[in-house]
Amino acid sequence: MKSVVVTGSTSGIGLAIASAFAESGANVVINGFGAADEIEAIRAKLDGLGAGRVLYHPADMTKPHEISDLIQTAVEEFDGVDILVNNAGIQHVEKIEDFPVEKWDQIIAINLSSSFHTIRCAVPHMKRKGWGRIVNVASAHGLVASPFKAAYVAAKHGIMGLTKTVALEVAENGITVNAICPGYVLTPLVEKQIPATAKARGISEAEVKTDVMLKFQPTKEFVGTDEVAAIAMFLASDAAKSINGTHISVDGGWTAQ
Ligand code: NAD
Repeated sequence: MKSVVVTGSTSGIGLAIASAFAESGANVVINGFGAADEIEAIRAKLDGLGAGRVLYHPADMTKPHEISDLIQTAVEEFDGVDILVNNAGIQHVEKIEDFPVEKWDQIIAINLSSSFHTIRCAVPHMKRKGWGRIVNVASAHGLVASPFKAAYVAAKHGIMGLTKTVALEVAENGITVNAICPGYVLTPLVEKQIPATAKARGISEAEVKTDVMLKFQPTKEFVGTDEVAAIAMFLASDAAKSINGTHISVDGGWTAQ
């Protein structure tokens, strides 16, 4: 039975990925913020989906010692981390000259450095078993930029470099490291940035959806969380064992332009 850790899985894409792995029968550690009763309801629901157990760990992705405790918990409870999905992420939309320094630091910590910490802690256990899958939820913003998202775009470009570097280091150990690059997915993270983007660009919230977000997505449709989860499942499968150090875009054609 595989053991899976999904960071930032109390909402949105991470929740969809954790649900898919739980349904497949894996043991899953979920993580992320939220009200205690809501998180327990999520955990219990996922626990009922498949044969494996589902645990919650409250690690804050800005805190390296809590991140190592998250991985250690998976190792102790489930004898390792076979599949690590680095998904936790936040956004802040503001002009570079007004971009709050603490937001820069927080975004780099959560969207980039936390993956360094989970990976450095999990890799020895994957090497021990001679098998592992690391899936980093990056973004189309790991490949191209948009204005007013300096920290997010920098972090997501950074995760692409981390993906490639670690992929080379662990390639002979049965471990693969890849990124998924979604376009816009209508999750709480995206809903929260609609008012800020409207303010930064001086347009209405409806125009943000049509003229900013979906403007670059040729399908003119948001990507579904289930579509991203399906890619994570594929990358974690044996069929994907030779896919390493690369990314799969799921952006409706955005980055083809
Ligand atoms: P979301 O806001 O729905 O979920 C984010 C998750 O991260 C939540 O569970 C939240 O509690 C958790 N989280 C936030 N800060 C944390 C911290 N310090 N420690 C632990 N957990 C923390 O967002 P989402 O849209 O599902 O985003 C998930 C990932 O997908 C992010 O990395 C995001 O950059 C990426 N992504 C999202 C989109 C999109 O359009 N929604 C597109 C491309 C990439």
